Amino acid sequence: MLIHHIQEAIGNTPLLELPITTPNHVHIYAKLEMFNPGGSIKDRLGESLLADGIRRGLITKHTTIIEPTAGNTGIGVALAAQSRQLPVILVVPEKFSAEKQTLMQALGAKLVNTPSAEGIQGAIAKAKALAADIPDSYVPMQFTNPANPGTYFHTLGPEISHDLREPIAAFVAGAGSGGTFAGVAAYLKSQDPRTQVIVVEPEGSILNGGPAHAHRTEGIGVEFTPPFFEHLQIDDTLTISDNAAFAQVRALAQQAGLLIGSSSGAAVAASLQVATRLPAGSNLVTIFPDSSERYLSEAIYQA
Ligand code: PMP
Repeated sequence: MLIHHIQEAIGNTPLLELPITTPNHVHIYAKLEMFNPGGSIKDRLGESLLADGIRRGLITKHTTIIEPTAGNTGIGVALAAQSRQLPVILVVPEKFSAEKQTLMQALGAKLVNTPSAEGIQGAIAKAKALAADIPDSYVPMQFTNPANPGTYFHTLGPEISHDLREPIAAFVAGAGSGGTFAGVAAYLKSQDPRTQVIVVEPEGSILNGGPAHAHRTEGIGVEFTPPFFEHLQIDDTLTISDNAAFAQVRALAQQAGLLIGSSSGAAVAASLQVATRLPAGSNLVTIFPDSSERYLSEAIYQA
C-alpha cells in the first residue's frame, strides 16, 4: 500500500477473530484500532473534528485549537493539526499516562495539566477558560460535538459491517466521551435492530450508579452521562473492575500475542460475560481502542 500522507493510514483497521473459546462457541471479534498511525481509535476523531471545524468556518489558517482530553483524542487532534500547521493546546488531567502526554508534545501540541482530583470536568472548564482568553481559538469539545459519534457512525460502524458480512448478535464497547459507542451502536442498530448494544465502564464510572471515583482503567469511565446516549437504546451497561480488565490485558498478551490497553482489557472481560447469554455460534464484536505500549510506565503487565 503506497500512501502520500499519514492521514491516509487512518481507519480500515483489521477485525480480528479472537482465539478465545466460550462455552457456547460465540465468535468474538475485535477491531484493532491501535493500528491507526497515532496508535488509537481517536485518530479518526482528530481528523473529523478539524475537518468539521474548517467546513463550518470555525477554524481558519491561524486558529489555535484547544481541547480537553484524556490523551488519545489529544494525539488524534495533534496529528490532524500538524498536517494543517495549526497550533494546538491540549488540556489533560495530570493522572493520564506520561507516554500519551509525550506523544502529544512530539506532534507539536502544547500541554496544560489540570489537577487529577478535578477529573475531566476540570479539564473542560480550563479549556473553556483558555479559549475565552486566546483570540481566534476553537474548542472542538469532543464531549458534546455531534461530529464525535458521527465519525464512528460513518467510518467504524460501516467497516465492521463490511468486514464481517454476517449478523452481529452483540456489540460491546467502552465509553469515555461515549462517541465511539454511540456512533457504532446507532449504525449497527440501523443495519439490524436485533443487535444488542452493551456499554462497558470501569468501577468509579457513574452509569450503573454510585459516585465517581478514580480507577486505573484509562480512556473509559464517565463522570456524567454522555449526551450522545440520549436517543440511543442501550441494552445493558457492564461495570468491570480494574483487576478484571488488567487480568485480560495480561491474558491476551500470553494467549493471543495481543498488546492491548486497559480499556481493551475491560472490553474483553465484558464480552466474555455477554457471550454467555448469546445464542450458540453467534457473533459478538468489540473494540480495542489502543495498545499497552502507552501504559508501560503504569506497570500495565504487573499483577
Ligand atoms: N479507550 C481508550 C484507550 C480511549 O482513549 C478512549 C477515548 N477516551 C476510549 C476507549 C473511549 O472512546 P470514547 O471517548 O469514544 O467513548
